[in-house]
Amino acid sequence: MLMHQHTHETWSQFLSYVEERCSAAEFENWLAPIQVLDASHDEITLEVPNIFVQEYLLDNYKRDLVAFLPTRVNGEPAIVFKISDSKKPSPIVEFKEPTPAREEESHNEPTSSLNSFYTFENFIEGPSNQFVKSAALGVAARPGRSYNPLFIHGGVGLGKTHLLHAIGHEVREKNKKLRVQCVTTEGFINDLVDNLRNKSVDKMKRYYRSLDILLIDDIQFLQSRKNFEDELCNTFEALINQNKQIVITSDKPPGQLSLSERMIARMEWGLVAHVGIPDLETRVAILQHKADQKGFRIPQKVAFFIAEHIYNNVRQLEGALNRLNAYSRLMGIEVSEEMVEKTLSELLQHAPSKKISVENILKSVSTMYDVPIRDLRGTSRTKDIAFPRQVAMYLAKELINESLNKLASNFGGKTHSTLLHAWKKIAEQVEKDDRLKRQIQMARRNLES
Ligand code: ADP
Ligand code: MG
Repeated sequence: MLMHQHTHETWSQFLSYVEERCSAAEFENWLAPIQVLDASHDEITLEVPNIFVQEYLLDNYKRDLVAFLPTRVNGEPAIVFKISDSKKPSPIVEFKEPTPAREEESHNEPTSSLNSFYTFENFIEGPSNQFVKSAALGVAARPGRSYNPLFIHGGVGLGKTHLLHAIGHEVREKNKKLRVQCVTTEGFINDLVDNLRNKSVDKMKRYYRSLDILLIDDIQFLQSRKNFEDELCNTFEALINQNKQIVITSDKPPGQLSLSERMIARMEWGLVAHVGIPDLETRVAILQHKADQKGFRIPQKVAFFIAEHIYNNVRQLEGALNRLNAYSRLMGIEVSEEMVEKTLSELLQHAPSKKISVENILKSVSTMYDVPIRDLRGTSRTKDIAFPRQVAMYLAKELINESLNKLASNFGGKTHSTLLHAWKKIAEQVEKDDRLKRQIQMARRNLES
């Protein structure tokens, strides 16, 4: 069956568009299982695991579907739904313990759960991720014998899953005998639920405990799921006691997760590494790398333009690139700055329209806390002055893409460690203090508008 290239492609574009806008769990549970069975220029046939997925899709994304896919005369998206054979278990709940007889082939099994693109070669290094990348490489080179567990945390779309899979690929390449398993926390929970139902939990336990390397993605989804937490914690302990490697990713550092003290202690036992927002040069390099791989050329000037406007999420950078690529091919036109502005206006809207400077930040903080700018730049350690100064420093690090040294020097010649200290302190406090959180959001909106 020859599928219509264009409709098929717009479906992928729809998926990457939605992926940027929903949680990872939502995407995995509802959108990822949908399969394209057929696509023509005026209709697409989708296979969904059940009627709920179909309803979910139409309830939540009809407007976007209409924008991406062919439509019928009545304006509805032209989708034919097929419910997949319900007797087939969905892959996520299917649990097979590799039997000794197929030991040899079973080594290849876990590869399927790794995204083949997420390798170390495809991971662009910059100051914001150098440390975590070398930690990941270290773990891949000597699993179970360097940092254990390795805990990777950072914001959405900054490459945590990418690094996790890269470790998996690297280990498999170096030593085919090692048993690597990569699961999302949701996947682990689903597995567990299913095995509880089938009374096969012991098998599952044995399987997980026989691994050499367990890679767990998005541990934050374990919060407020006490029973599962205990089970996973037991698995961790069993593996770590045998010097088996564990790598965990999360959107927050261990201490900020609402999990049991025992679990947090376990996760802090090894190395905790942060993935930050890549600086401008790194974002440009990432864009160029992704473009190269798609065989899509973008002028350096355009890459800078995009990277200047989309700055806190690499997945969005990639989404912008995909959209641009599709648009330029459909319209048969060259990529230029004007065209970028037109096609990406929606994405770019979220970016600041003016360049934020330390000067602006000082002004805004000075008004908010009623402290003269001169004092914010000064050295007084009185709380009424030192605190607003730290807030300003926090905002500067969050909103301005400059080296810490350069930012710090704008605060009356402070050092980079003073700035970093201030940022850490406020970042921690924001999590606990709603009033401060609101103040900071207000300042941000003010500065960005
Ligand atoms: P997270 O798990 O942190 O939300 P992902 O690992 O899913 O983020 O990354 C989102 C996208 O951005 C992926 O396509 C990934 O390849 C890409 N990406 C993130 N950081 C980098 C990087 N440093 N170099 C290349 N690609 C990156
Ligand atoms: Mg992820």
